[in-house]
Order: sequence, then C-alpha cells, then structure tokens
Amino acid sequence: MASGKTKIPRNCPQCNGADYDDLGLGNADWTIGACRACGFAYLTEALPYEDLSEDHAWEKSFAVEAKRRKKKRPVFSWIDEKTRWRLHIFPRPETELFLSKFVPAGNVIDVGCGSGGHVLRLPEMTTPFGVEVSKGLAAQADALFRSKGGHCVHAPSTEGLKQFEDGMFDGAMLNSYLEHEIQPLDVLHQVRRVLKPSGIAVVKVPNFGSLNAKVMRSSWCGIRLPDHVNYFTEGSLEKMAASAGLTTRFPRLANLPTNDNFWAFLRPA
Ligand SMILES: [Zn+2]
Repeated sequence: MASGKTKIPRNCPQCNGADYDDLGLGNADWTIGACRACGFAYLTEALPYEDLSEDHAWEKSFAVEAKRRKKKRPVFSWIDEKTRWRLHIFPRPETELFLSKFVPAGNVIDVGCGSGGHVLRLPEMTTPFGVEVSKGLAAQADALFRSKGGHCVHAPSTEGLKQFEDGMFDGAMLNSYLEHEIQPLDVLHQVRRVLKPSGIAVVKVPNFGSLNAKVMRSSWCGIRLPDHVNYFTEGSLEKMAASAGLTTRFPRLANLPTNDNFWAFLRPA
C-alpha cells in the first residue's frame, strides 16, 4: 500500500529507545515493535507529516484498510463486524459526554479535530478550537469553529498547539487521535502547557490491552497500517502522560476489557 513512499524510522515515542522486538502484528511493509527498554508498542517507521496533510490523509486510507482487512481474513472480519455491538455498550458520543460533564463552559480544543463535528456537540457555552493535520478537514473545521468564536489551525499537532497561549483552555479532547500521532509525548507536553491548572483533557484511544486485541491479533480493528502508529494500554498511556506532567484517571465503567477503546482523563499534575 505504501510502496514507493518515504518512510521515517521511529524510536520508541515513550523513551526514545531504538531497540524493539517485532510483535508479529504488521505486514511486509510495516512492523509493530515492543520497545525493549520500556515495553511501549509502536510502529517502527511512519510516513512524514507532509503525506498526512495531503495524499495519505486518514480519511482516505481508512477505506483502503477496511477493504484490505476484509480480503485478508474474511472470517475474522465477519466476526468483527457482527460483534460491532461491543462498541455501543455506552451511548455515543462518549468523549463529548465526558468532556461536557467536566467543562460546561469555556475554551475547548480538539486535537486532531477532523472536520470539527465532535467539538460542536459540546455545550453551547464552550468556544471550540482545533488542530488538524489534514488540509481539507482543517478547512471544514475552521469554518465551523469560527461561527462559534474559535478557529482551527492546519498543522501537525505539536506545531499547531504552539500557536495557542499557556493556560488558554478549560478542556481538551483527543478523540481517536493519539494513536495516529508520530510524536505523542511532545503533543501531551503541549496539551499540558495550554491547559489551565484546573483544566482536563479527555482521551480516547484503541485499547491494545483489550481482549479483542489479544484474540484477533493482526486482524484486530485497532491495528491500521500505517495510520495507527502508537498502540496504547491504560498503563502505557498513564506513563506517557506522567512524563508530560499530567495525572491520569480512568472511567472504570466505560473501560471494560471487552471494549476496543479506552478513555482517560488527564489533568495537570
Ligand atoms: Zn521505550
């Protein structure tokens, strides 16, 4: 799928270690490794941000990956589809519900906001801002957010977040985003910086520690090559957040082992 593309080698995004063990979950083009120093699971190479901005934006690659998955393991794919109810144990959209509860009013930033729809479901009293690497989606989000007094920056997240002042935000959401981010620790440092001391970031990521991930192996819906570059467990996210100066709490009722995703609430330490 990515042949002919320039790939960038990655060290472990948690500890910058270069040695890893191949987890055997990748394909001919891509390797998911477990860092030998800290255990973090990550894609050992990635496409550069320039590619994400235009021709490999995830909204396009998602369709390609869905097709590939179906072709490769039709039976598992069928089971996966037929058990989609697993995703609906809690009414959607959970991330927005959590954030609405914590932040009924104020400035909110959606990191990796896509076309901006999520943050618009927050309470009326919140002013929406966003950062999005895909050019087309960022333009859509910007138009939406400006009608509510905010705006969206088109840039990789670290660079985009640097355009906002210290302590500007009451809330942040990282909804199905951090698994895509080549530099997740840098982004969390920036999230820490732009949050008020009383602020909170609600994170949703695929749960690499879920039962389904263990059973489905390379056919698990959380594995998307090369779009998902980080494979978080609750433990590895908590560790990365701590490295960025953030404390972590988990909503235990939502984070069931049968759920393909988990949520985390991060606050400045
Ligand atoms: Zn590591």
